[in-house]
Amino acid sequence: MKVMKFGGSSLRTGKDLERIAKLILQLDDEPVIVVSALQGVTDHILKALPAIKESESNVQALVDHLRERHMTTVHELDPALGEPARAVLDPAFEKLERLLYGIAYTEELTPKTQDLAVSFGERLSARLMALAIQREGTPSEHWDADELGILTDGNFGMATARLEESAKNVRAHLEPQVKEGIIPVVTGFFGRDDDGHVTTFGRGGSDYSAAVLARALGAEALEVWKDVDGFLTADPEKIDKARPLPYMTYDEAAELAYLGAKVLH
Ligand code: ASP
Ligand code: MG
Repeated sequence: MKVMKFGGSSLRTGKDLERIAKLILQLDDEPVIVVSALQGVTDHILKALPAIKESESNVQALVDHLRERHMTTVHELDPALGEPARAVLDPAFEKLERLLYGIAYTEELTPKTQDLAVSFGERLSARLMALAIQREGTPSEHWDADELGILTDGNFGMATARLEESAKNVRAHLEPQVKEGIIPVVTGFFGRDDDGHVTTFGRGGSDYSAAVLARALGAEALEVWKDVDGFLTADPEKIDKARPLPYMTYDEAAELAYLGAKVLH
């Protein structure tokens, strides 16, 4: 079994979803997939929330934007998927809309409500990724991490996963599916605390989610797919001359992770 994670920068268009679905099916017969939100979606939700707290008149703009963004992606993937996509996306949009009106009416945007609202980026993208895999003729199901039982310490906005307890839940739900040949697509970025509250792992937290899942499942490998050619000497968005490292030892990787390098957990 292999855990493969795809981030927002790889999830821009419907064609990306198609390419990734084909890649997954080529590379492993028992993959478990973890996805981030589609490119730009997390930022968009976070930016919209303060205005929603100020006025309910801003709720519809966010919901409409997200609907448009995701349905455009579906049409790029395959116009014939419009119906099935709406069937899986609409219940999520309805929940999000109710939550947003709640934020508007109470005029309260707390770390708790913000975490729940921002988790919808991954909920929506996981549904689309599962559809893209199904379209290739292989059964696939989306999983929301709170429902799956990734348990956290309840620290909103920067939670830590409780590994052993999460592992039990993850194995109970995913192992039977994988054995049946179903490819699970799990939302990155968040889990839930003991009271069921959604807690996010901080920005970029889907890589961490993937590591938690790989450990829980005793996966042979964790692959974090990125839009760069390898582990670079620096962040290429900040340093022009960043170049790929030809190799890295496990000790070096562990040290980088310990010192706070992103991606490695
Ligand atoms: N979507 C979340 C973010 O943008 C988590 C992630 O991408 O890893 O921070
Ligand atoms: Mg990311």
